[in-house]
Amino acid sequence: MAGISFRNVTKSYGKTIAVQNASFDIKSGEFFCFFGPPLSGKSTILKLILGLERPDEGEVLIGGKPVNEVSPAARNVAMVFQNLALFPHMNAGDNVRFPLVERKVPEAKIKERVDAVASKLHIAHLLHKPPSQLSGGERQRVAIARALVRDPVAYLMDDPISALDARLREETRVELKRIQGELGQTLIYVTHDQEEAMSVADRMAIMENGHIRQIGSPVEIYDRPASQYVARLLGAPVMNIMAAEQNDGQLFAEGTIKVSVDALPKAVSGIGIRPEDLKVEAWTDGREGRPARVFEVEPLGGYTVVTIDTGGQKLRALMRGQPRLEPDSAVALSCDPAKMHFFGSAGEALAK
Ligand code: ADP
Ligand code: MG
Repeated sequence: MAGISFRNVTKSYGKTIAVQNASFDIKSGEFFCFFGPPLSGKSTILKLILGLERPDEGEVLIGGKPVNEVSPAARNVAMVFQNLALFPHMNAGDNVRFPLVERKVPEAKIKERVDAVASKLHIAHLLHKPPSQLSGGERQRVAIARALVRDPVAYLMDDPISALDARLREETRVELKRIQGELGQTLIYVTHDQEEAMSVADRMAIMENGHIRQIGSPVEIYDRPASQYVARLLGAPVMNIMAAEQNDGQLFAEGTIKVSVDALPKAVSGIGIRPEDLKVEAWTDGREGRPARVFEVEPLGGYTVVTIDTGGQKLRALMRGQPRLEPDSAVALSCDPAKMHFFGSAGEALAK
């Protein structure tokens, strides 16, 4: 296992700059996600790591050594074309062995590797069984073992489980995360699904239009997004972003949420509040600012999404349980100043 780094890597296709001045250091053993919308350059980054594309500028390093001139085969980086369906006519063991047999790995080496993976993943007792005799969970574990049986420098996966249905996707990513941790292998994972990225990544890089906008752990990025773009990419419902308005010498977000001036950096143009941080209470007379109105209440069981009409834009609040809020009733909005995000005119986060 070895780390993988980019130093100021740029790759264009004609006039399209697919990856622009990208730098990062993926540590050995890390589960690292590239997350961003379609066409943001995620797959191109994987191709540059694999050596299927060469950078126009900059350097790709594996284990600290430049590999721009090294062929894909000699890089020993494995692309996992994830197919969670097992071959039905082979027993579980032959399924797991298959990628090694296909690569003509010597028999002794295959046995050693399959035994090691099987014991780490606790599937040794299943290897003699055909897939039809395995439970859904066992089958999935065997399929992931097959995907990870090689011993490359790192595994790459490009949106591997997007084709599965929601429930299986959730189970698969939990399993993948656990197995990756058990095997201690570097896994570089591309996804356009925020929940997936948040749940599996040790760290992730947020992509926009070929640029890496932020790198950090999911929690760091969620709590301290570097820009409005990043802030809105993570979290559902999305962060509310409002203009600051003066009212009687005091500052309000969207005219309704009081902002303590102590908390405020200079030159604020946007105030962000995550739905779970927006406090909604019945309006009482004598409050500062103006009331907002409940527009829609969506009970989701454990949580309720409340849409609030401030007269300007609609805000979303995510509340625990089933709050008693009638549509059209007047409400007061507030937020702990420590939970507010402040943005400058270019959408950049401002230090508090
Ligand atoms: P993602 O994986 O995030 O969807 P890609 O890396 O596939 O993004 O693409 C990034 C940009 O580069 C897109 O604008 C895409 O159209 C362009 N691109 C990718 N591969 C090629 C190619 N082989 N030829 C021309 N343009 C490409
Ligand atoms: Mg892609």
